[in-house]
Amino acid sequence: MLISTFKYLIKESVGFVLRKFQVHVLIKKLNNNKSLYFVFNYHSFSKYNNYKIKRGSILETGYGDNFDKQIKFFNKHFKFSYPEVFFESVSTNQHSVLVTFDDGYKDNYDMALPVLQKYNASAIFFIVTALTGSKDMLMHDKIRFLVEQRKISKNYLDIPNKINEGENLYDEEVINKVNSVFAEQKIPKRSLMNHDELNEICYKGFKLGVHTHNHNPLIFLNKESQYYEIKSCIDYLSEIDSIKYIAYPNGLVNDMVVEICQDLELKYGFTTQRGFNIKQEERLKIKRIGINVSDSLNVIVLKLALNYIKGLY
Ligand SMILES: [Zn+2]
Repeated sequence: MLISTFKYLIKESVGFVLRKFQVHVLIKKLNNNKSLYFVFNYHSFSKYNNYKIKRGSILETGYGDNFDKQIKFFNKHFKFSYPEVFFESVSTNQHSVLVTFDDGYKDNYDMALPVLQKYNASAIFFIVTALTGSKDMLMHDKIRFLVEQRKISKNYLDIPNKINEGENLYDEEVINKVNSVFAEQKIPKRSLMNHDELNEICYKGFKLGVHTHNHNPLIFLNKESQYYEIKSCIDYLSEIDSIKYIAYPNGLVNDMVVEICQDLELKYGFTTQRGFNIKQEERLKIKRIGINVSDSLNVIVLKLALNYIKGLY
């Protein structure tokens, strides 16, 4: 707890200095002759999903306002663009950004949508179709939450590294144990967006993308299961939107997955590899910057700077 607060304060302070010196403006100036594409990867507004940053009770409220500040900041300094516009247009010096939300939690609809509309942002929502409309949490979110609460051992975090014939990556035993311990927790129920809400997202001009049917990391599945996971998700979402984007669960992709995406006419694939993108980027291996809705603007500038450096090498 003490260490995480200390780490948080360091991040804040370094970010404060970088923002003071307008490093985000400097990055744009250094790249006058080419266009950079920063893609931000969000998940949800729940503190239970911000498991990667342990900062105690600091900044655990007011996410909506904070998200507004973040999108306002992107809008002020960059141009919002969908991938087909960024990658396929010929203009240079149009440093662009895109907002992406993975997993399809309902707070995306409740809290993100109004803000994204207000700033006329470009945003893609990546949906896990087996869970649409349910009152549940994704299995890996339950596991991370329970590990953080010390209710189950850390071993549960290990992704089963196996080729799986069926639809479930986790053994029945693991699923039952996690679900039973999870049911004992006194936390508010979470919901995932339903068909109508997804419809409305598109109606308001935003886009939907594949996050597979069950959110199993594709590289651990055999080709048949990979195909099933992607195709079922496309089939569901195609009733709502024309689907050309995919965000790989856990960001994990291999050649076989890329091949399937090409066969199914998905044009743009999003990983969790950090960095920025240029026009020559492999379209099915787009890099993203992980952002929490609770990140301050100082932390955002720090992440931009770190991802810029990372992208250079
Ligand atoms: Zn995900």
